[in-house]
Amino acid sequence: MTPPSQPQRVAFHTLGCKLNFAETSTIARSLPAESYIRVPFNKEADIYVINTCSVTTSADRKCRQVVKKITGRHPDAFIVVVGCYSQLRPDEIASIPGVDLILGTNEKFDLLRYIGKRKKSDIPKIESCDISSCETITPSWSAGERTRTFLKVQDGCDYSCAYCTIPLARGSSRNIPIKECVAEANKIAEAGILEIVLTGVNTGDFGRTTGESFIDLLSALTEVEGIERYRISSIEPNLLTSGIIDLVAGSRKLMPHFHIPLQSGCNSTLARMKRRYSRELFALKVKEITKKIPGAGIGADVITGFPGESDEEFKETFKFLKGLPLSYLHVFRFSERPGTPAATMPGRVNEKKRYERSKLLSYLSDSLTKEFCRRASGRESAVLFEGSSGKGHYSGFTENYIKVTVPSQERITGTIRQVVLNSLSDAGGVHGSLKQL
Ligand code: SF4
Repeated sequence: MTPPSQPQRVAFHTLGCKLNFAETSTIARSLPAESYIRVPFNKEADIYVINTCSVTTSADRKCRQVVKKITGRHPDAFIVVVGCYSQLRPDEIASIPGVDLILGTNEKFDLLRYIGKRKKSDIPKIESCDISSCETITPSWSAGERTRTFLKVQDGCDYSCAYCTIPLARGSSRNIPIKECVAEANKIAEAGILEIVLTGVNTGDFGRTTGESFIDLLSALTEVEGIERYRISSIEPNLLTSGIIDLVAGSRKLMPHFHIPLQSGCNSTLARMKRRYSRELFALKVKEITKKIPGAGIGADVITGFPGESDEEFKETFKFLKGLPLSYLHVFRFSERPGTPAATMPGRVNEKKRYERSKLLSYLSDSLTKEFCRRASGRESAVLFEGSSGKGHYSGFTENYIKVTVPSQERITGTIRQVVLNSLSDAGGVHGSLKQL
């Protein structure tokens, strides 16, 4: 392929999850620096790449808005749309004025090849293979100013939760071999990054294609020199084994922080969602964590307004969550995704109810976080500082994922420091002070 005679300016924009951020970074790194200069998304570029998501309706809408913004400012720019929305609805994207190229789940990692021969035309080009033939997996990790990176170790999912489009967009469960994950972690350590968040679509399902296991991955990664902290981005309750909890309990590098998707605290809603566990199993996991790792941070995802979720069922969820020692909730309003069984299920919950239930759970989340932070106040904790507010204040996260802000004259971004946790902050975290060395 002939490289462009003049270096081309390329800008990237990411919508959606951590996996998308990791993949955008990897796609950007795949472009040779002598031919392609990366510029911020709000600056003028020759090529704009939008990495899309399809999990909610707003993700689709956001993609349209972003394209409109670019075409308004830079009508001659070449616009590429990649990611889950591209894989699922290429024709829909092709109808957005200004889009030139649409790359599916596999093809996005070949961006260089496609933009090398680009030509602006009225008819957008779609390059996307059938998702059932998508068996490759590209190691990806996000890079930037941060001291924490998201490393993709797994992709795709073999589950078929009734509301989810991800298996349709990302294909079946597959993973990167442990040896390669370790090699990527070594590269991350060389870049001076101290914390890795292990990311995937169904991360705990790691090993499906290589016959390895997630617990072996965790053990191997803790041997990598230079990486001080690992977090598991999220793990399904049915895949969170006692072995994993024990390993985290006994490790200095595996952070005492679990994010477990619950989705509903009502067993009949869980059954309609086609989730693979009961609320009792979820509660047992939480109990086991808190017994073996006192003070561990535990977060959960919850969906409100799933079809058929009656007021009683929602109350059951609310009561269940209120009774658990969780530290935060991520609340999502159910949205009908075309092509999923839930989109056409009877018992539609109106938007107002979805919204009200989300609000109630968000309040609950705030009070769970406050209570968690209050229990931690007065204690000491190791904090990895990620950034500064610019006014002599720095913020970062404790091992159990409490956001901490401290005053400091010294520049402490990218360092791990002992901090005394003092008082609750308005931003759902804690004000602390550095322990003097
Ligand atoms: S576990 Fe369920 S919700 Fe998660 S990616 Fe797989 S199908 Fe989607």
